Parts: sequence; C-alpha cells; structure tokens
Amino acid sequence: MPSQAKLSHAIYQKRREALLADPSLSREDRAWMRSRVQFNAGKFLQSIPMTQKFQCSSLVFKIMLQSQMDRKISGTEGIKQCALCGGHRDSSFKTARHPLTTCKKGKRVIAHDKLRDIIHKMYQELGIGAEKEVRGLFSQLTSDGDHRTADVLVPPSATEGEFHWALDVTITAPTNKTNLERHSDTRALAAATRVHNKKLEIFRRQLEAAGPAGLQFEKKPLAFEATGAMGKETQEWWKGVVKLATERQRHHVQEQQTWTANGFSSYYLQLISMTLARTHAESVVSWIGRSQQPGEADGFHSRGTINV
Ligand SMILES: [Zn+2]
Repeated sequence: MPSQAKLSHAIYQKRREALLADPSLSREDRAWMRSRVQFNAGKFLQSIPMTQKFQCSSLVFKIMLQSQMDRKISGTEGIKQCALCGGHRDSSFKTARHPLTTCKKGKRVIAHDKLRDIIHKMYQELGIGAEKEVRGLFSQLTSDGDHRTADVLVPPSATEGEFHWALDVTITAPTNKTNLERHSDTRALAAATRVHNKKLEIFRRQLEAAGPAGLQFEKKPLAFEATGAMGKETQEWWKGVVKLATERQRHHVQEQQTWTANGFSSYYLQLISMTLARTHAESVVSWIGRSQQPGEADGFHSRGTINV
C-alpha cells in the first residue's frame, strides 16, 4: 500500500495547478504562490515550539501564516508611505512585500546573516572546520566590483574535491521586477536560478582576473527564495550535506530535537525555514509599526495579540 502522502500527491498537484491558473491573480501573487510550493518553503509549519529556536510571538506567527497563505497582512491598511524609503503605497503594501522587494532601505541583510550563521553551525556540528566571514584570498567579488568576505568557507575534506568551497548565501524575492522579467510567475525557482547564475558569472570574472594562478576556492552560491524555497542547485548542496551527516553518523544533539524535528535533516530544514519566515515577519512588524500614521499603531498591536 503506498503511503498517504503518495496517494494524496495527485490531488495536491491538481489543486495547485487550479489555484495557479486563477486569471484574477497578479503576476506578483502568482510568482509568490509558485515559490511557496517549492522545496522547503513553508517547512516551518511542521515545527513545534518545544525549543526557543522554534518559538515566536503570536503577532509574528500570525504574519508568518498570512504571508505564507498570501493573505492581506493586517495592519497594512492605513499605510500610505513607507517610513524607510519614503515610497508611496502600491500593491506590495497590502501583502507587506514592499520591504522584501522594492524598498531600497529594507533590512534584507538580517535574514542573510542569520542563514549564514545556521549553515556555519551546521557544519561545525558535523565536525567540519568550516569558517565564517573569511577575508583575504577567499574574499568574493560583488556585482559592483567590491570585495566581500566569503560567507562560510568549507575545507576540501568535506567537499570531496581539491578546493575549498566558498558558500555564498543569497535570498531573492520571486515577486521583484528582475525576477518577474525571468518569468518567476510561470517557471518554478526561476528567481533562485537567476541569482545563482549571476553569482557564478561574477566568480568567472574573478577567475579570469586571477590569471594562470587561478583561485584556491570554488564558489558555491546557495540561493533561496524569500518564501524559504531552496533553488535547484541549493537542493543539490543540501543532498550532499545530508550524505555527509549520514557518513559521519552524527546523531543530533538530544536537547535540540522536537517531536517533528527528530533528525539532522528535519531539524535543519525546519530551522532554515523558520528562521527565514520569522525574520521576514519580524521585519514586517517593525515596518508596519514605523510606517503607520500616528494613532494607528496601538490598534495594530492590540488587534494582533487579541485575535491570535
Ligand atoms: Zn520602502
């Protein structure tokens, strides 16, 4: 007898296609919906708040759910102007996607840094001497020609290759203009693929500039979409991490486990998803609070806590 998940797969697939085909959806909404059914998006919904890592305030959790379900985010109704960039209200305000996409002052680096820290800690737990924020030869070129430290540097003992891996974490919103130009509304993970290729292109230029001596590291972009979805290449990297964990037979530290996150893979997949969704929701809470007109803020907070 096939598993229940297998049996219900066709029903989910059919329903997914029907929802995505809704002609009333905007391109942005369709891109977001398509992204949030990809690998690891919404994984946080399986987590149990048994440890601090899987806990969040009720208001934040409410926004995480509304965002995941593509609902209007409560508290955004009265916002006419973004307090961060001064931008005027458009369709990205009601879904609170503005700070994730068009806002020039959106604090997107927080999610990036948290994700980098999780990945670094994960390698350490596997007994691999990965380093964080490495400069010098391992620094990476940015699109504007600047040098930036490698997010996480993985030694060759764990890469099965000759070189270090310079992991480069990148998060992109499938709803932004550049990603929509690459058809993120009709092609699954098009946004993650775009930023992955962009990072590799920069690395190729860096390699050319290095001349015959080459570079002593290989760049590994780890692309995520803002829904938490892992890009195709990031999924391949993840399979490698799980293989390493199996080979090293590292059993997950007991006190970190929960009933649903009871192994290396489930724990870290949930943690990555939870961290991205929670950080996003926290920045939305702060954005709403700052952008609301005086007098509205109290209503937003009390509504948030009473309704959940
Ligand atoms: Zn803004």
